[in-house]
Amino acid sequence: MKLSKQFFSILLIIATAGLLAACLKPAPPKNPVNAAPELADAIAQLSDSQENNDSEFKDLLGDVLITAGIPHELSQKLEAAATENPAFLLELLASLEGDPYLRMLVDKQHSLPSGYKPDDLVELKGGSYQIRNGGLMLRRAAAEALEEMAAAAKADGVTLIASSSYRSYDYQVEVYGRVVKDMGQAAADRESARPGHSQHQTGLVVDFGSIDDSFAETAAGRWIEVNGSRFGWSISFPDGYEDVTGYRWESWHYRYVGRDLAAFIATWFEGVQQYALQFIYEWEKAHIDL
Ligand SMILES: [Zn+2]
Repeated sequence: MKLSKQFFSILLIIATAGLLAACLKPAPPKNPVNAAPELADAIAQLSDSQENNDSEFKDLLGDVLITAGIPHELSQKLEAAATENPAFLLELLASLEGDPYLRMLVDKQHSLPSGYKPDDLVELKGGSYQIRNGGLMLRRAAAEALEEMAAAAKADGVTLIASSSYRSYDYQVEVYGRVVKDMGQAAADRESARPGHSQHQTGLVVDFGSIDDSFAETAAGRWIEVNGSRFGWSISFPDGYEDVTGYRWESWHYRYVGRDLAAFIATWFEGVQQYALQFIYEWEKAHIDL
């Protein structure tokens, strides 16, 4: 028994050593005949996960488009653009860079941060454009973009007139109150923003010329409509979109959104700033990773 016990002990040691040796032995080189199927498997796996990512992306995009209230037909075009045309995502990413106030939704549902006042307002002095009153102010970037646009208009023989620009919260209290008194609440809400909800408070907006419908038919009105986006300006309340913007058509009210976003709006959103800003708002909320 004693011998036999020793024998098994030795066998156990040999077996353990053999097992260890087998484990530590480097793996045999892969048979090249098998390499191709392994590679094919890896590619197939990768492509599966790519498709999963794509379908996940499409689902997220679909949700964003619905939440942003983009109409069905435009949504379909945007879905195709986002998944097939790299230019859409590149332009979107460019629009998401830089100053968030350029793309901020400021409308009947979304107000500016309480007490917001831009810290880089400059007084408009005129230049290639005229000013209707003294004391008009814009944020520096918008003032520079206004001068650039006005210089181009002037070169085409058209003079732009800035009639209204930055309005403080307190001033908007007065403006809105006056309009309500003149026209009544319902009519006032079609064309005057409640305090905190006016794009004018961003310091990025100019009302041009006569500030009434006749502006659309002037040389300046026609010129900005065609050329404004090249200089980063976008009409906020276009004709026929009152149910989308909440405001009646204002041919004279342009918001400086920067050249990237202005191009994005013009190219993909049929020139409707409200759709593009709603889309960007929901896109940023969804935290989509590309
Ligand atoms: Zn305005």
